[in-house]
Amino acid sequence: MRRAMAEAEVGDDVFGEDPTVNRLEEMAAERLGKEAGLFVVSGTMGNLVCLLTHCGRGDEVLLGDRSHTFVYEQGGSAALGGIHPRTLPNQPDGTLDLVHVEEAIRPDNIHFPRTRLIVLENTHNRCSGSPLTPEYMRGVGEIARRHSLRIHVDGARIFNAAVALGVDASDLVSEADSVTFCLSKGLAAPVGSLVCGSRDFIREARRARKVVGGGMRQAGVIAAAGIVALTEMVDRLADDHANARRLVEGLVDAEGLSVDPGKVQTNIVYMNMTQDGLLSAVVAEQLSREGVLLLPTGPRQLRAVTNYHTNGDDVDYAADVIRKVINKG
Ligand SMILES: *Cc1c(COP(=O)(O)O)cnc(C)c1O
Repeated sequence: MRRAMAEAEVGDDVFGEDPTVNRLEEMAAERLGKEAGLFVVSGTMGNLVCLLTHCGRGDEVLLGDRSHTFVYEQGGSAALGGIHPRTLPNQPDGTLDLVHVEEAIRPDNIHFPRTRLIVLENTHNRCSGSPLTPEYMRGVGEIARRHSLRIHVDGARIFNAAVALGVDASDLVSEADSVTFCLSKGLAAPVGSLVCGSRDFIREARRARKVVGGGMRQAGVIAAAGIVALTEMVDRLADDHANARRLVEGLVDAEGLSVDPGKVQTNIVYMNMTQDGLLSAVVAEQLSREGVLLLPTGPRQLRAVTNYHTNGDDVDYAADVIRKVINKG
């Protein structure tokens, strides 16, 4: 990636003249079966730009109460776009119950905001990294068509879902009007996300990107790493998934910890500490001193994510260190 960045051919992307950015956008769109792509700085910017493009002020968005867009993006679409979020309970597998979705759609009535958009997350970070299936997406698509709603997929980890399910990423987003995915998660690029959609959608999204300060100049230096990510880093996500399973197997009978092997389908492992008085932030600090980096995601919960830089031996080492630190409690 560093070499590709150093050698990247560049131009001014605000004028659409950076050949490396243009190539990355075309590659991403083709990969997802969409007409066009847009390179953005981050997944948060990608989701925001999509919501600003789909919705006007006072429009309502249906989204999961554990979704990244609702929980971790500062309510940006409300703060900057006046968009009204309506949360529905995420099921443990990351889906929204289709009955809940249908019940939440507002009838045409002067009292109500207008329901415009359904936002789904695939894989679902806070729901064990679960992949949403093409069958589920078809069910959502059918409801959206019936009510003239649009669908946005926060596919930060869409390629993890595709690899886990053994389908093309395009099969997971054929019902979606827009999709965001991250180059900077499992695909291991230093920076960047892509938004994909129809040519008309992307033309408007490009305006939204500019107003949030996301117009970049010689961005080919970072897009070059994204091209390497898309061409070389997708198939190997299967290794991350195997390593996540290996980690869970190493922890499943650990005292003081509860992990659910049945939930681990991709690269994310949540573990809950069952001993009284042990705090995840304290445990994470102790683990980090031995080189094991986990994220506290609740007072008693930690998240591990396997990646390009962790192999099977690392995972075995991590499991040993986690057992040791938890037992010392
Ligand atoms: C990381 C993530 C994002 C946001 O990406 P950033 O690049 O960190 O802004 C959005 N959605 C999900 C599901 C994510 O995991």
